[in-house]
Amino acid sequence: MTAKSTKSMKSTKKIVLFRVFRAFVSFVAWGGLRRAPGDKGIGSGGLRLGACSHVSGTRLAVTLALTALLGARGVGARAARQNRPGPTRVQLNQSLDTVDVHVLHVQGNVYMLVGAGGNITLQVGDEGVLLVDTSFEQMSDKVVAAIRSLSDKPIRYIINTHAHPDHVGGNAPIAKSGATIAGGNMGVGANTGASILAHENVLNRMTAPTGQQAPTPAAAWPTDTYFTRKKELFFNGEAIEIIHQPAAHTDGDSLVFFRRSDVLSSGDLFGTITYPVIDLERGGNIQGIVDALNTILDITIPRDKQEGGTYVIPGHGRLCDEADVLEYRDMVTIIRDRIQDLVKKGMTLEQVKAARPTLDYDGRYGAKTGPWTTDMFIAAVYRNLSAAKSKSQ
Ligand SMILES: [Zn+2]
Repeated sequence: MTAKSTKSMKSTKKIVLFRVFRAFVSFVAWGGLRRAPGDKGIGSGGLRLGACSHVSGTRLAVTLALTALLGARGVGARAARQNRPGPTRVQLNQSLDTVDVHVLHVQGNVYMLVGAGGNITLQVGDEGVLLVDTSFEQMSDKVVAAIRSLSDKPIRYIINTHAHPDHVGGNAPIAKSGATIAGGNMGVGANTGASILAHENVLNRMTAPTGQQAPTPAAAWPTDTYFTRKKELFFNGEAIEIIHQPAAHTDGDSLVFFRRSDVLSSGDLFGTITYPVIDLERGGNIQGIVDALNTILDITIPRDKQEGGTYVIPGHGRLCDEADVLEYRDMVTIIRDRIQDLVKKGMTLEQVKAARPTLDYDGRYGAKTGPWTTDMFIAAVYRNLSAAKSKSQ
């Protein structure tokens, strides 16, 4: 064996050892990130690894030691990246003609349709078909074809979680292919399509004052709205709760909970792809997002010590259960608290951005380009919290 090959063997050994060490570090840090801090009183501005109240003692000690060694930020970001591969954002750039609609049976009567735009929730039974959201208009034919692969009953109801085009775009054509439940002396014309239900602020956002051009055609507007905290529906042998969440993603968000199937459809109050989208122009607010995520956690019940129990269909991204929502709620709460802390110190938006309050989550949820960048998220939270601060002064 030559000196050269011994040397190269040694350096290979070194690389292997380094990889094992790095994998170990990631594993420990990953454990730290998985075990989220408690609900309330998360230290603002504190590093998450240090803030974990119920990480086991040894693991925390090792984590902190290695964190000091390698730099907490690097470990956090790497661990966050390794936590789960980020769902692809390809769908945002794809031509809609090439996108298929996939059907996933969730449980009970409920299915999830995934294609472009927002996810669609489908409830199917003897009385007909109910949809939560309708994706983009261009997807409608494929959505109806997917529904027909499951049921030949009429489409009776569409519930809109909010007014964005990637969730209400298919309202008109899909409602037209359905039939509302009408009878007795309701007259000719009552049975012309599925009913579209939403919070009244969804209708407000889709219409316009008299004399102005409405952003969406009348055929897509909700035919039935509610203005109370909750609307109830009983369809296909199942109680369905439509729960308004004020000032969150927009001002008209609803959660839709299928009680018998034990599935909750969250609209854009929860997603697995990006930081929460706060539509300031349409009344969105970070506090409402945190409140909505806490409402979801109140409703969901996990299966004992395993995945499942109540399933949550997010506005965008993959099927989730309570643990996923918990992690997301913690992330949103921690970032809100960090920005709150910086706002209290009187920092400008530019200073807050420079402080990088989202850094350890950027590998998982951040974006430099696209419809919802990290900078846009920080700016929206900053505006909400500074407005709240100046109100309280
Ligand atoms: Zn939306």
